[in-house]
Amino acid sequence: MKAEIISIGTELLLGEITDTNAAYLASQLPLLGIDLHFISTVGDNKQRLIETLNHAWQRSDIIITTGGLGPTEDDITREAIAEFFHEPITIDQSLVSQFKELFNSFNMDMPESNIKQASVIPSVCIIANPRGTAPGWWAEKDNHVIIAMPGPPGEMQQMWSNVVAPQLQDKYCHAIIYSKTLKTFSLSEAKVGELTRAYLLAQNPTVGIYAKPDGIHLRITAKAETLSNARELVEKAAVEIHGILGNYIWGSDSETLEGIIANLLTINSMNLAVAEAGTGGILANTITNIAESSKFFKYGTVINRGDLKRDYGINDAIIKQYGVVSEEVACIIASAVRAKCDTSFGVGLIGVIESDDSNNKLGTIAIGIANNTGKRGFKKVYPGTRMQVKQRAAISALYELKNILTEETKCT
Ligand code: ATP
Ligand code: MG
Repeated sequence: MKAEIISIGTELLLGEITDTNAAYLASQLPLLGIDLHFISTVGDNKQRLIETLNHAWQRSDIIITTGGLGPTEDDITREAIAEFFHEPITIDQSLVSQFKELFNSFNMDMPESNIKQASVIPSVCIIANPRGTAPGWWAEKDNHVIIAMPGPPGEMQQMWSNVVAPQLQDKYCHAIIYSKTLKTFSLSEAKVGELTRAYLLAQNPTVGIYAKPDGIHLRITAKAETLSNARELVEKAAVEIHGILGNYIWGSDSETLEGIIANLLTINSMNLAVAEAGTGGILANTITNIAESSKFFKYGTVINRGDLKRDYGINDAIIKQYGVVSEEVACIIASAVRAKCDTSFGVGLIGVIESDDSNNKLGTIAIGIANNTGKRGFKKVYPGTRMQVKQRAAISALYELKNILTEETKCT
């Protein structure tokens, strides 16, 4: 089946919002084995939407729209589909009652304009919207289907996973799709691509590469008649890719570095303290996103560079010998924070987020990790904006910590 996405909204054409709905849907369709051939964007203009639907109808079997299902004048998706189908719009009174109940539950009267959202045409089945008043439309005719969903991403995604994806799977997909994501860090996208080239060219399973804040991800997707066959194809490729990329793979699917570290620290009854200079506490913040992090996270502090000498004994001689953003300085910080808090691990992070008078390039970061077997330092340079460098510094520190924890606790 050939699919096409139409994103509706003048805000999209003006560049005021980014089309994350199309990106989300584009990432979901391959899981159903449905090929996406086109993505179009059209403003809140009924005539131009009808023209776009007309084009899409001629070249695609499944047309998915988002946006324009609200109660206001500029929400024209329903009217455009009705006109395109040459079908009259009527008001579904049971939907009107549902809206009234919803508004009553918030102690509000339903505005008259919301009645528009109860519009239906003969070819339409309503798709419930548990998050808002805009129901979706599933409009089928002549072996084509137009699926209209609301613009707000939370509403659209819930409608997609509750109703639309299962219904598309039932109706059009005769194969099972299974996929697995392998997450790497420390290799560039180009390097991962080179190393796994043979897999990127393969048909089943297919492998896609995605650059994410926590590294380069590889998504392996297989299509087969049964789930166990699809899973077997994916797992075989995953084992082979593990053989190629080794320790650069730090996790899979929904795993996060902080989650893996939390697990390793907890099962080994270990704990952690961190001190950061230049990264504003992003490492501590990332770690404390984990539930019950207080069990293993003892302490986090943000160091002002001016206090390095007074609080950490990093004097001019050390700075002259190694430089301020250096593995040595990061290790001194790591050991000091570990000693101060009496923890299993201490992590020191120092970065050049602002341009400074040292010879270090902007985006240079140094990481120190100390435990009872000694200390290890790492130095890296990351390009990007201030926020991106901070984020990569935190991910990088977590990646090195995870490797040391895995090695020393002999857990995988
Ligand atoms: P509403 O009932 O909120 O009016 P709607 O279905 O009419 O819903 P729009 O009015 O087109 O949707 O968009 C509402 C909001 O949803 C936009 O302001 C924007 O924040 C978000 N949105 C719409 N389309 C997209 C898109 N393609 N990608 C990301 N966000 C979007
Ligand atoms: Mg709207």
